[in-house]
Amino acid sequence: MPPKDHAGTDMWEPNPEVLELWPDISGNEINGLGETEKRQPNPVFWRQDDSTPHAPVMYYFYEKDKDNAAIAEARKYRQRTAEIEVLDVASEAADTPAGGWTAALKAKALELGADDVGIAAWRDDWAYPDRPSPQGKYAVVMAFDQDFDAMIAAPGESAYIEVMIQYERAGNTSKHLANWVRSQGWYGAPKTGPMTEDVLMIPAAIEAGMGELGKHGSLIHRKFGANFRLSLVLTDLPLEADAPDVFGADMFCASCQVCTKACPPDAISSEKQMVRGERKWYVNFDKCIPYFVDNMTCGICLAVCPWSRPGIADNLLVKMARKLEAA
Ligand code: SF4
Ligand code: SF4
Repeated sequence: MPPKDHAGTDMWEPNPEVLELWPDISGNEINGLGETEKRQPNPVFWRQDDSTPHAPVMYYFYEKDKDNAAIAEARKYRQRTAEIEVLDVASEAADTPAGGWTAALKAKALELGADDVGIAAWRDDWAYPDRPSPQGKYAVVMAFDQDFDAMIAAPGESAYIEVMIQYERAGNTSKHLANWVRSQGWYGAPKTGPMTEDVLMIPAAIEAGMGELGKHGSLIHRKFGANFRLSLVLTDLPLEADAPDVFGADMFCASCQVCTKACPPDAISSEKQMVRGERKWYVNFDKCIPYFVDNMTCGICLAVCPWSRPGIADNLLVKMARKLEAA
């Protein structure tokens, strides 16, 4: 008899082919689940090479739908981003614009296509110990809204293609913004998903005011909910950092179970957990990824999150502002 989830229904069971490829080490152990000391994160999945123990599972994911013409086409979008050349840094620094660099850079990010932008002072604990620390004093983090109708059909082709569309938009904007910074005579490096390689985007995005961490392990933005993608630019441009945007999402998650109930492999814990010295919402890697790689990157938890549903976030913001005030 198949195992039951917390609601008493038959639990989804991982594909034996994926289990065969699964390494001996748990992804949760690599992520530092249960560790009480703060440390840099170790890479666990998205890398262009074999540097993570779960690389065979990632290759399985890329092989799985390769004969699906629509998916194969969508996977080319990232290639278009890769083909955008990163320009040399101009030999002379431009004059500080009227209004300062922070305002000019944010306006440029929005003009180039970002739906929101924030700035965080860069911290080395957002980098991996097996790669050189990336250069740049500031992370300019950009958010890119996804189409809700495509995502609510997750898991499936339309959601997967929408994710690829937004990764291309995020990646292209990151590259164009980095080139703009470089044309002003300052260092700028684009960082795009999902293969961010040497940076961890979510903690930088939280510090930059792009949202709060949700129970589903993804960010919740005050306007886009969990239905968006990120990219960033690291730069030495003299900027002013933003503050985290605390609007009540974390508090809301404490009494919401929508994503926990919707997740087929029961990967979303209803309680915060200790991860590398910080108590936070955490998704069980060993449960999520086997489903994710077999179901076109899943995305159910992002779509069903109440904050993601168009027209809902404004009401939730008002409700949570009252609760935060009373707390
Ligand atoms: S579905 Fe509910 S619990 Fe899950 S992240 Fe969204 S608000 Fe939080
Ligand atoms: S992506 Fe899918 S499998 Fe992973 S936590 Fe979200 S709902 Fe669960």
